Amino acid sequence: MSRKTGLMWNERFMWHEQGRYAGILPADYPLQPGRHHENPETKRRLKNLLDASGLSEHLTPIKAREISREELLRVHTPAYLDKLEAGNLEAAAIAGFDAPYTRGSVDIAKLAAGGCLAAVDAICSGQVDNAYALTRPIGHHAEPDEGKGFCLFSNASLAARHAQARHGIRRVALIDLDVHHGNGAERVFWRDPSVLTISLHQDQWFPPDSGFLEDVGEGAGKGYNLNVPLPAGCGFGAYQAAFERVVLPALERFEPELVIVPCGYDAGAQDPLGRMILHSEAFRWFIARLRGIAERFAGGRLLVTHEGGYNEFTIPFMGLAVFEELSGIDSGVVDPHRDIFVAMKGHELLPHQEAVIDAAAALARDIRKPE
Ligand code: ZN
Repeated sequence: MSRKTGLMWNERFMWHEQGRYAGILPADYPLQPGRHHENPETKRRLKNLLDASGLSEHLTPIKAREISREELLRVHTPAYLDKLEAGNLEAAAIAGFDAPYTRGSVDIAKLAAGGCLAAVDAICSGQVDNAYALTRPIGHHAEPDEGKGFCLFSNASLAARHAQARHGIRRVALIDLDVHHGNGAERVFWRDPSVLTISLHQDQWFPPDSGFLEDVGEGAGKGYNLNVPLPAGCGFGAYQAAFERVVLPALERFEPELVIVPCGYDAGAQDPLGRMILHSEAFRWFIARLRGIAERFAGGRLLVTHEGGYNEFTIPFMGLAVFEELSGIDSGVVDPHRDIFVAMKGHELLPHQEAVIDAAAALARDIRKPE
């Protein structure tokens, strides 16, 4: 059965630049200038594959729009917004740790964040069943008072707050699949039980000293932040176990009215900034499970926001699998990497991986639907 899936995209997202970089470092001598790891290619190639395969024709376009200051203040501090605006006029600026930007980037970031809100509007009004926000800059590392890890605004957190403020949605679940910790949403909702934040990530990878199992939230929000810090080298088996023992039981207890998936692809095999070996079929499986939760509890309301992922050749196919699963439409394209990555050694669940997952599963058992 096909579903109505929205695509929020704007070519201007591709025009955000970090400046003179090579990988993650400023390109100063002796480092030859090149490209920043977070450059347009992964996202642009995904958009191009949607077009080339014909899948775009079946998607409902969602127009990006600029987010207002009032909407940004639901998540970010006035001082941080003022700092960004000042930097937006400079040739080069830094929003926080590993978050460089250049003149005009903040305008683009506002369009991307506002586009995520427009996607929430389309979902909650019933214009679409679910949606994918193909944003740049990405958002999941941005915190209330500083940018971080290539991110300026916490797009997924802003989307969650918008759904609560404008659409009467009470409970939102955020399931962060990026290989790096979803620290932004963790901080935003640290004391808030109305938004369940779950992050599956590589243990102590980025940000440093972040994403520990014992970081469960505080006050009323205690128990509503779940970290699954997976050891480097996990394959599909470990991620499936994490879903079946932690993510899905937690969501079934929480009963979200909206599901948001900050979806990074850097847990994919051969990603330069991750050390996992997932493939496109894994992402298809994740979205199928999360769609099942959304259909059971949230009237199908499901938003995917594009996050990290830095292998420009493999990511378009992982993204395509997500779009196929959201829409229920088979593009007919077979991922050329699929058989190679599926055949890789290391997809079975190993004991040291299972130990972390079972510890997280014990925490997930305490989750209750908040009042
Ligand atoms: Zn990442």
